[in-house]
Amino acid sequence: NTTVYYDDDADSTEIEDATVAVLGYGSQGHAHAQNLADSGVDVIVGLRESSSSRDAARADGLRVATPTEAASEADVVSVLVPDTVQPSVYADIESELESGDTLQFAHGFNIHYGQIEPPEDVDVTMIAPKSPGHLVRRNYENGEGTPGLLAVYQDATGDAKEQALAYAEAIGCTRAGVVETTFREETETDLFGEQAVLCGGITELIKVGYETLVDAGYSPEMAYFECLNEMKLIVDLMYEGGMREMWDSVSDTAEYGGLTQGPEIIDEGVRENMEQTLEEVQNGEFAREWITENQTGRPVYRQRKQADVNHDIEDVGARLRDLFAWADDEQNDESTEKVT
Ligand code: NDP
Ligand code: MG
Ligand code: MG
Repeated sequence: NTTVYYDDDADSTEIEDATVAVLGYGSQGHAHAQNLADSGVDVIVGLRESSSSRDAARADGLRVATPTEAASEADVVSVLVPDTVQPSVYADIESELESGDTLQFAHGFNIHYGQIEPPEDVDVTMIAPKSPGHLVRRNYENGEGTPGLLAVYQDATGDAKEQALAYAEAIGCTRAGVVETTFREETETDLFGEQAVLCGGITELIKVGYETLVDAGYSPEMAYFECLNEMKLIVDLMYEGGMREMWDSVSDTAEYGGLTQGPEIIDEGVRENMEQTLEEVQNGEFAREWITENQTGRPVYRQRKQADVNHDIEDVGARLRDLFAWADDEQNDESTEKVT
């Protein structure tokens, strides 16, 4: 009973007379701004005077102003600067929001955790493409779409969802399908997913597997191939046809061993850890920690990142990727994009 919206559900007149300020010209910003403009929407990119992205936006044929100027002119303000700087950018533009304007996001963190508290007379919506920005742009140019999420946090005009759908159509999301959710659900599932499974879980699984083999005397190269390189091939199969397609593609030995040993490795303790991680996302503990971390110059972030960069698996991987051809293919470039 999930509703999926497509092009036919969107009414482009909901956005075609609007001026959209796109704040930020990074991964999402450059894609939204160019797709909106190519869809005939009046776009103004908001960037600080010192911004290194200003030239890129101008070169792409877009008008550029400061975030405050852009917001002042706009009916829809799309907030596409990094989540950690959104509260301070918002403080600069808040007084430019007029009754009936729309504040538009691509992720719910700052609204959900109360870091941005918009006035009651503006619409607050989210269109979150489920992909890095360069694919949002490339898909649009190829006539294809990027799946996305839609959420309405505040509907002051009575028209918030319709306008958000029109925005989704203009950036190409309704070509692929847009699923309705809430700011809370998008934020909490996004944070949990990247922490427990996508970014945190998978890197630790790979590293612990690699270390177990290397500590037992096997060669780092073999350990790298087994635990990291093959991961992509396995995930590609699951992406294409689910777990079943992956299991059907590996040997019966791999299938039997995987089905019996998997739950021994990812055991009840891991499940409890995941429940703990989810609880800290839900009760705001993680959000508070990350906000404080940013306010204090990111000491833990720096230290953890350094340790991660220095892990042996990175040296082995860099050497092996230089020696083999797979590192040149296009899909590998995509894998360097951020998941946020
Ligand atoms: P980026 O990190 O790519 O944004 C960089 C842009 O923000 C640059 O134009 C930069 O310009 C500007 N910027 C940075 N700091 C400031 C500042 N202090 N004041 C003004 N402008 C600033 O962001 P993303 O595109 O990754 O993320 C934008 C939003 O989209 C976030 O809410 C994110 O969660 C969401 N999202 C991101 C996805 C992704 O794949 N990246 C996927 C789905 C959602 P400057 O040159 O001035 O630094
Ligand atoms: Mg094997
Ligand atoms: Mg995220």
